[in-house]
Amino acid sequence: MDPYRLPRTAVPSRYDIRLEPDLTTLTFRGTQTVALDVAERISDITLNAVELTIESAGLENDRGETIRATATMDEATERCRLTLTSPAAPGRWHLRLAFRGTLNDKLRGFYRSVYKDSSGVSRTMAATQFEATDARRAFPCWDEPSFKAVFSVTLVIDPALTAVSNTSIVSETHENGRKVVRFVDSIVMSTYLVAFVVGELEATEAVMVGRTPMKVWCVPGKKRLARFGQEIGAASLAFFERYYGLPYPGDKLDLLAIPDFAAGAMENLGAITFRETALLVDETAASHTELERVADVVAHENAHMWFGDLVTMTWWNGIWLNEAFATFMEMLAVDAWKPEWQRWATFGVSRAAALSLDGLHSTRPIEFPVTSPRDADAMFDVLTYEKGASVLRMLEQYLGPEVFRAGVRDYLETHKFDNADTGDLWAALGRAARQPIPAVMDGWIFRPGYPVVTVSRDAGGHLILAQQRFNYLREPLPPAAIEPDQPWQVPVQLRVHGARGAAEERVLLAERETRLRLGEAADVVVANAGGHGFYRIRYAPDLLEALLQRLDVLAPIERFNLVNDAWAMAGAGLMPLTAYLELTARFRQERDRNVWSVLMASFYAINRIVTPFDRPRLEALVRDRVAPAFAALGWTGRAGEDELTRQLRGDLVRALGVLGNDAAVQARAAEVYAGSLKQPGSVDPNLLPGVIAVLAQAGEDGRYDEFLAAFRSAKTPQDEQRYLYALAGFREPALLRQTLERTINGEIRTQDAPFVVRSMLLSVYARELTWEFVKRQWDTMDRLYPKHAMRRLAEGVTGLVTRELEADVQTFFAAKNPQFGGKVLAQYLEQLRVAVALREREGAALSGYLGKTS
Ligand SMILES: [Zn+2]
Repeated sequence: MDPYRLPRTAVPSRYDIRLEPDLTTLTFRGTQTVALDVAERISDITLNAVELTIESAGLENDRGETIRATATMDEATERCRLTLTSPAAPGRWHLRLAFRGTLNDKLRGFYRSVYKDSSGVSRTMAATQFEATDARRAFPCWDEPSFKAVFSVTLVIDPALTAVSNTSIVSETHENGRKVVRFVDSIVMSTYLVAFVVGELEATEAVMVGRTPMKVWCVPGKKRLARFGQEIGAASLAFFERYYGLPYPGDKLDLLAIPDFAAGAMENLGAITFRETALLVDETAASHTELERVADVVAHENAHMWFGDLVTMTWWNGIWLNEAFATFMEMLAVDAWKPEWQRWATFGVSRAAALSLDGLHSTRPIEFPVTSPRDADAMFDVLTYEKGASVLRMLEQYLGPEVFRAGVRDYLETHKFDNADTGDLWAALGRAARQPIPAVMDGWIFRPGYPVVTVSRDAGGHLILAQQRFNYLREPLPPAAIEPDQPWQVPVQLRVHGARGAAEERVLLAERETRLRLGEAADVVVANAGGHGFYRIRYAPDLLEALLQRLDVLAPIERFNLVNDAWAMAGAGLMPLTAYLELTARFRQERDRNVWSVLMASFYAINRIVTPFDRPRLEALVRDRVAPAFAALGWTGRAGEDELTRQLRGDLVRALGVLGNDAAVQARAAEVYAGSLKQPGSVDPNLLPGVIAVLAQAGEDGRYDEFLAAFRSAKTPQDEQRYLYALAGFREPALLRQTLERTINGEIRTQDAPFVVRSMLLSVYARELTWEFVKRQWDTMDRLYPKHAMRRLAEGVTGLVTRELEADVQTFFAAKNPQFGGKVLAQYLEQLRVAVALREREGAALSGYLGKTS
């Protein structure tokens, strides 16, 4: 028997759940009745439950028969086995259960969140987080996505508190001094989508989106930060009703900000939960990046109400489809809402992150067989979200947006209130497109990695496109095996600029190599035109030089890809690092924020491999590259400037002041900051986060304590985050040790602490002492932090880029053997190897280059 799949001898169709949480004793009691369809004569029932005490269990049916049951918990498999005192015949039965549990502090299951109210008093609320497999911590259940059922929830609470669940309230009554809140029956849905939130909560007025009332909820005092989230919430909900051609499946929609939340947000049907930074924002004081984050996450969760909630994957191997699709739809919705944000161009940054991870031997296919829940947890990564969304975007562009949408509508209509798999989506898209989709898509979904397409020209006027898998390392780290290299079906969009203008051509590169006739007057060839492809382009030197001469004919996303691919070639040893640095000199006049983001990311990475002796020279190089663009923009915004340009100014200030260690910029930043304190709102919100980071780098006396106080008294979640991460950005070891101490003494929320430590491992000033701290405190952190936190924290080891540190990391993890699930640890170690290999291969040449140019 599969230890991870429940038998289908008894299948639930309805849960009547009554839960009574007590926020003072941090416990809850529950009773429930589950309507079961019993398929064959059974003498026991197996369902999921963990960290619950079952107090009583029994079956009864409408004929008045009753059967008692004894419960045996198996903590290892997270199951409860109910042994019946006599067998139950096939038919409809009602399973009655009474149980109790605790409101834990691990941010999963039914958990507690503690926050300070506006007068500084500590308050407790209770919330849930069930995906993937933690509903079983709140109530015994068939905790697999294909066991869909109706949920009828009743919460019995302190009368002073408010309760929210997936549906609207049927009735509120009082019993023995407690408030009894009954909710409307849910649609047929999976257990991981059930939610309850209980606490002192306040809500905005509802806005009506079609027939759906939509509200934003938060702890008291923060309602003024809810407007922006509600706006994108309403806009995206309306967008999806149009796009999907189906009404929103719930009877109301609540968006709830929870002070302690492990993930970004969770798509519980009708009761979406968020960490505060992903929902609450002061739009007059937030940067573009901070606003974009809220818009993205809200749109993403709303997209799930159909794709995920109404139609759900059959098993966790299909989680990619859920998440990739919601990520893709989030882009579409935000792009429709704010076209001026150019969301699809910015998506290049996310695609680049996926290309980077997927260039490892230790990558994985987007979809792979998942047996255990732990492996499902490991699927929540950049390959599922960003690679998945990238290949869907590539497919959408290949089929055409209307055909793609028709296929999606067909898929949702066919499978609503049910489960479906990748094959079902391909079938629906294939019907709409009148062509078989698997032929094109399977290579991208079921095989790891992606191709680099080499573009060259022969003497006879032909263009040669050749593909092979892209890998940073020639040899995989043991014990990985090299996957057999088969060609992908690569939709290549070409644009050729010649004397008579530009011409586009679409090629499906299905072989290893293909030759195309090229007109004589082809001056410039752009491959992956439009930038939607999930592959890299490696141009022959003459074609690359021609492109660099004509950057003006490239769209921003094409310039982004040009830099990003060149940087990857340097990382893989296919281009000298010094040649890459020469290439960056061509972008001094660049004005696109995304192109700058890839340039800066590469400078950060190079900063991790230079010696302390060479660091000032690298700082000089960064100043040389960034200063011209910044000089053109200046410190203050101009009337009519768009949001992206204002954000770029903030990014350039950060680059100059932190990576460039520019004393003049640091001094000016101090003045700007002082001005913003004297007159709040006087400084562009896009500038302020960068200014704060620069001041941490500068590290003047007293600045640390000033930022610490600002962190503690922050009035918005965004402000809190800026100052929190600034505490990780100082250079003075004594200050950095203080910050580290705060990651385990309760001062920094456990939802944030792992990310703070990660950022310190990636800082060249903090990494050694942070690594020592992490080794010493590993077990403490593992105990304090939420599930998956150590996996996120450990990603920071990719910044420990010396041979000695790398060896130490390997020794530590070999002894510790952390269970991150999937190939996560192997990926971190390989990323570290790639960086150390770059250092060893290019260190001397880099040093020589920096010596010459500085
Ligand atoms: Zn999602």
